[in-house]
Amino acid sequence: MTDVDVIICGAGAAGQTLAIDLARRGVSFLLIDKAAHPFTGSRGKGIQPRTQEVFEDLGVIDKIVASGGEYPVQRHYTPDGPVDTGPGDMTGPTPYEPYRRALLVPQFLTERRLRERLAELGHAPHYNHELAGFDQDETGVTARLLTPGGARTVRARYLVGADGGPSFVRKSLGVAFDGHTLGVRALVADVIVEGLSFDAWHRWGQSPEEMLMLCPLYGTEMFQLQAPIPFGVDVDLSARGLTDLVRERTGRDDLLITSVSWASPYEMNARLAGTYRVGRVFLTGDAAHVHPPTGGQGLNTSVQDAYNLGWKLAAVLGGAPDGLLTTYEQERRPIAEAVLGLSTRLLEAAKQGDTSRKRDVSQLDLGYPDSPLTLADPRRTTGVPAGYRAPDAPVTGAGGLPTRLFSLFKGTHWTLIGYEVPAGDAPAARRDLHVHTIGERGDIADTGHHVRDAYGLTAGQWVLVRPDGYVAAVTTDPGVIDAYFETHLNIPAGARQEVVLAGGAASR
Ligand SMILES: Cc1cc2nc3c(=O)[nH]c(=O)nc-3n(C[C@H](O)[C@H](O)[C@H](O)COP(=O)(O)OP(=O)(O)OC[C@H]3O[C@@H](n4cnc5c(N)ncnc54)[C@H](O)[C@@H]3O)c2cc1C
Repeated sequence: MTDVDVIICGAGAAGQTLAIDLARRGVSFLLIDKAAHPFTGSRGKGIQPRTQEVFEDLGVIDKIVASGGEYPVQRHYTPDGPVDTGPGDMTGPTPYEPYRRALLVPQFLTERRLRERLAELGHAPHYNHELAGFDQDETGVTARLLTPGGARTVRARYLVGADGGPSFVRKSLGVAFDGHTLGVRALVADVIVEGLSFDAWHRWGQSPEEMLMLCPLYGTEMFQLQAPIPFGVDVDLSARGLTDLVRERTGRDDLLITSVSWASPYEMNARLAGTYRVGRVFLTGDAAHVHPPTGGQGLNTSVQDAYNLGWKLAAVLGGAPDGLLTTYEQERRPIAEAVLGLSTRLLEAAKQGDTSRKRDVSQLDLGYPDSPLTLADPRRTTGVPAGYRAPDAPVTGAGGLPTRLFSLFKGTHWTLIGYEVPAGDAPAARRDLHVHTIGERGDIADTGHHVRDAYGLTAGQWVLVRPDGYVAAVTTDPGVIDAYFETHLNIPAGARQEVVLAGGAASR
């Protein structure tokens, strides 16, 4: 007997993303956090383009955009005066990439929007609920919780450790967290500053002793202060103490910090969990990887971990083979490995004064080409390869209204698009699959040829898109799609839910 399907330990960005995804799939879960209340700091403030796409699918993107703003210019104060540099090398949206610029949203606002979305789905995190221990066996996990009402035992099919860098779940499992400390200690704080314009990310100094940054936190009146600090020294985190630090490093006596709402000195690390799964227990987000904040990758990687895990947990709970869950680590651990390298390289570049950002921080080009879920076709040399992000494209519905591929993808299902396929060639209808065809008597029209161009399609091809927006296969053989669903998902054609009819007979 289980109480819930999934216990999610930790209601940060990763835990809440997973909760939203499970909620919309009708999976029962318990989302717990040992903290007494939601996190109040701004720390992971950059929302990368790929995460914006994930947030669109989860139904929260517009609220998150409205909560913050685009990154401002960086204003470097040099001995020759202030020099402004652009926020990055990404231009505006294209038909294929509707979100191309990082958003600047304080983490506590992002998490607030996620909580609101969760509330729309009828759920909320349980604060003051600490995971104090757990055991697992072949059928589930028994978790011991400390709650305001006393100790409680909860039985679930799976446990997910979304409990941050110090992860209790990871340590309890004995999973290694290899890597290294980066020899950098830094302060991050949310402060109100008098005397500073809100139109730029202000940066002073280059050496660790001189460097200080103040970034406006759109959606609030605060700046995020970041500065390297020496090891082994107590930093005065009061408004007066931080005013002294700011004046010392900027040489500006006109700057005054009037309030500090959150402050955290921390040491930078680059570490990766040895495995993301032990039996029925998974690690996600910072519990699985930590790295420096340079390039704004941490929160984004955490959200996308959870987004990868959510649909797989739901599918396996719904009857898919357990091997589907093995692909979570196979797909996400190499991504985290690359992020560790990227953020550490950007940290080294920042030490040399280079804070420029290129496309590689956008996370739009990440993919799972080596995943067992990817059916690569070596004969296909143009267009999006299987395993990579399925691009957006404006299309027109047969009813005459404009729509987009992302609108067709939105939700919990797989999507199959036939491009000028022979009539009657479609694979059999089945649960969790939406089929659209483009061409004569198709339900959508590729009016601007954006689908053809984005995907590099030729007549007769089918594109199978996963629930998390990656291309699983491009094929001319509908039989491949049938086999894919039966092998990876155990969903035969025409599957119906069991319905118990009056009188007790079951129909299938
Ligand atoms: C100082 C600092 C600055 C950062 N700056 C940036 C940045 O600029 N850009 C960026 O992208 N990322 C940044 N990050 C990283 C980003 O904040 C994290 O990647 C992100 O918060 C990870 O989300 P998460 O949900 O995995 O973990 P967390 O946000 O850490 O959430 C984990 C949750 O688990 C809960 N928990 C822990 N143990 C238990 C338990 N036993 N029982 C119940 N609950 C438990 C905690 O209370 C917490 O709420 C920064 C991180 C730090 C520490």
